Amino acid sequence: MPNVTFYGACGVVTGSCTHLDWGENRALVDCGLYQGDEELELRNWQPFPFRPSELTAVVVTHAHLDHTGLLPRLVAQGYSGPIYCTGPSRGLISLVLRDAGQLQEEEVRYARRKGYSRHADPQPLYTEEDARQVLKQLEPLPFHEERELFPGVRLRYVRAGHLLGAASVEITGKGADGERRTWCFSGDVGRYGVPILKDPEPPAAAPAALLLESTYGDRRHLQEDAAEALGRIIEETYARGGMVIIPAFALGRTQDVLYYLSALADAGRLDPSTVFLDSPMALEATRIYERAESEHDEELDALDPSPLREGRFVAVRTVDQSKALNTRGEPAVIVASSGMATGGRVVHHLLHRLGDRRSSVVFVGYQAAGTRGRALVDGCETLAIHGQTVWVKAKIHQLQGLSAHADRDELLRWCRALPAPPQRIFLNHGEDPPRKALVVAIAEELGWPRPVLPLTGDSVPW
Ligand SMILES: [Zn+2]
Repeated sequence: MPNVTFYGACGVVTGSCTHLDWGENRALVDCGLYQGDEELELRNWQPFPFRPSELTAVVVTHAHLDHTGLLPRLVAQGYSGPIYCTGPSRGLISLVLRDAGQLQEEEVRYARRKGYSRHADPQPLYTEEDARQVLKQLEPLPFHEERELFPGVRLRYVRAGHLLGAASVEITGKGADGERRTWCFSGDVGRYGVPILKDPEPPAAAPAALLLESTYGDRRHLQEDAAEALGRIIEETYARGGMVIIPAFALGRTQDVLYYLSALADAGRLDPSTVFLDSPMALEATRIYERAESEHDEELDALDPSPLREGRFVAVRTVDQSKALNTRGEPAVIVASSGMATGGRVVHHLLHRLGDRRSSVVFVGYQAAGTRGRALVDGCETLAIHGQTVWVKAKIHQLQGLSAHADRDELLRWCRALPAPPQRIFLNHGEDPPRKALVVAIAEELGWPRPVLPLTGDSVPW
């Protein structure tokens, strides 16, 4: 019987993976990495609950690791078919997966050298070479055009506004009753009216079923002026002689941060030569963003020079250049990944600056439970970094206005734009409090059928 099984992002915001089964053909929508605490990250090492070699197709909604990060493992374990993505996603997927493979190899080397792993012989989850194999299987598709996924099943992408190339996907196929019906997989839904990317678009077909993300299902983003809030923090920190560390996802958040930093520089409030973009991946992602002109919104097009232009701020490429920032005495802004401080160069900057009460750390995206970022925004007094305990003396800020995810009102707005209410609604990609709050909002404010909160491994008919 054709069915859908929810294998990831059930009650959490990472590990997106949904399995579609028509017997002779099977597909995945997303194959994401779990990120967060140890229990979550251990799930990445478990065997897939299906045979990768028996899949016919994989459909990716966007490049973020929590939607793509297990593709190298899937391919290494025998999946050899097409991996569909949108055209603008392709470059970012390539970037993020190669980086993930490198990072995992690097972390294993570092753990071996420092001897802090509990494993006698730590191994990477996958290698850069595994990631490169994925790229050979990518098949970019245009937005809005319906294509065959495999015989009898079709798909179509529409813009989701969450990240360059991010999409919602409509998949149409027959159920056990012989009826053709469409499922809409929202992917991660972005915000309306924010600069750089075009707004989320409604799916074209009325879906019989909807799988909707719920990251901020219980929250309304503060309508703060992001440039103003960031400007105030930077000015106060500079006045104290401190550093501003901005942990930012290399894809998406970094480009937004650059947009607002650029606005401050245009207003004469920030010297661009004191802003360091310390992430080769973010530098590359910014170049890909700048080139993807079809995806830019009017606000970005109106700016000259573009905030995404190479040379607008100081590019930090080498490890030595990055290390030199550790001993810099004058105030500066350092934008580095990863956004939840789970890895990457920002961890080293935190190690050096968290103990400095003149400095500030500014979080600009979602902080998943179990991450260092979450611990910091929740007000922890100490933080463990690479086997050391660091006292948190720096000021910790979180800017809500820079979120990449729709809030509860924007999720409802996205729902209202569907051509007709779905008969079945499932919520994933959210922790339980926001999922539950969104159930109530959808049932009561939209008058739609009460959404279901699937558990990992739950199956429902197509
Ligand atoms: Zn995402």
